[in-house]
Amino acid sequence: MSVKVCKFGGTSMADGTVINGVKKILDGDDKRKYIVVSAPGKRYSGDTKVTDLLYACHTQLLSCGTCKKSFAAVRARFVSIVKELNISYDIDALLDETEAAIDREKSEDFTASRGEYLCARIVAAVLDAKFIDAEDVIFFKENGSFDGEKSYKAISLAVSGAKRAVFPGFYGKGVDGKVKTFSRGGSDISGSIVARAINATVYENWTDVSGFLACDPRIVESPAKIKSLSYKELRELSYMGANVLHSDSIFPLRKANIPIQIKNTFRPEDAGTAILPSIRYTPNGNLVTGIAGKKNFTVIFIEKSHMNAEVGFICKVLGVLADEEISVEHIPSGIDTMSLVVESANLPKEKLELILEKIKATVAPDIIRVIDDIALIATVGHGMSSSVGTSARLFNAIANANINIKLIDQGSSELNIIVGVNNEDYEKCIRAIYCEFFK
Ligand code: ADP
Ligand code: ASP
Ligand code: MG
Repeated sequence: MSVKVCKFGGTSMADGTVINGVKKILDGDDKRKYIVVSAPGKRYSGDTKVTDLLYACHTQLLSCGTCKKSFAAVRARFVSIVKELNISYDIDALLDETEAAIDREKSEDFTASRGEYLCARIVAAVLDAKFIDAEDVIFFKENGSFDGEKSYKAISLAVSGAKRAVFPGFYGKGVDGKVKTFSRGGSDISGSIVARAINATVYENWTDVSGFLACDPRIVESPAKIKSLSYKELRELSYMGANVLHSDSIFPLRKANIPIQIKNTFRPEDAGTAILPSIRYTPNGNLVTGIAGKKNFTVIFIEKSHMNAEVGFICKVLGVLADEEISVEHIPSGIDTMSLVVESANLPKEKLELILEKIKATVAPDIIRVIDDIALIATVGHGMSSSVGTSARLFNAIANANINIKLIDQGSSELNIIVGVNNEDYEKCIRAIYCEFFK
């Protein structure tokens, strides 16, 4: 039988009116049986997401021993949601219990997870559906990775017999019995996990845009809509900053080939974007599927004559970073040069200085230099590899916009070309690439 799992993001949970809209969407299709929700998001620009309010509660708890003051803002959000929904629900009792549990647990993950928990409890009441706590069905292994085997079994057992079920996203339980969250935006992963566990026909991810757009709508006004893209393209784009969907969302779905459909809660009639296991590129289709990027990278540039002939050179350099537990995003290299691209947030000044000293001591480079404030921009598409001159068009477009390219990295899959530019050129560069391939 055809079944859908529907995940609703923060803006789809922002207030009672929107939640009533969600109910209408669910009531309109009886295949929409399993629901995963995020914590209430922003109602207007400048508003604060409930999850961010909860992180503030944890900070206050650490400094004052109680979260009472900061929790007042969380309380007010949920009280007004229940009021707007006009349901009879003892939200005060649930909030009192939650506040006490936060004070007792003193755990950042537990505190952060309560936005999803409270929201799912309310949505389950609105829908008259079964509430399934994520800590009872989503498990992590000893090393912190997700335990699929155990979780899929627990989920299918928990839903059996339920006409409709609501799960809070974003968290599960670790081997120590404590609540553990995914990284930010992780309710998308929870949705994938539920979809895989029940072998859904489709995983509908409901958000506040009518699908995946060719680039960030906050940079280019009304970018082209992407009708469909592949798992691989999604992963490249979301990892590089297109935060419509968490980049790890495809892992639970891959083995079962479950498609994702991005839908807009505020315009449910719009088709949205289909994310499929693979896409056959048609020669008259778009060369480029999408553009995404992120600011604030640091590049460590290393030059040494005959680097290519020195056995184990790259391994020794990477060993220094591994010892310091720093992950490297990209390693563009030439015959005598290599660059290490690292997220600046992971590289505090003292650590960077230590790493530079260690690299000097280990491989004695001729030159070692640090370039800060770099933005990376990925241009992604299956069509790019099969078409001559795509990179020339890309680099010309950037040059014509008078932007200096600091580094280039072409993924070995030929699915993407990544350029590094100064942070200040980031938006301008995305606009230039967009104009070249989409206008
Ligand atoms: P949710 O709360 O529903 O999970 P998110 O804020 O995580 O929603 O993701 C949706 C947002 O992603 C959109 O509002 C949009 O501003 C942003 N976004 C960034 N890049 C893109 C893109 N390429 N296509 C669509 N939206 C994008
Ligand atoms: N509420 C969490 C966050 O803000 C998870 C999510 O929204 O997916 O990151
Ligand atoms: Mg999201």
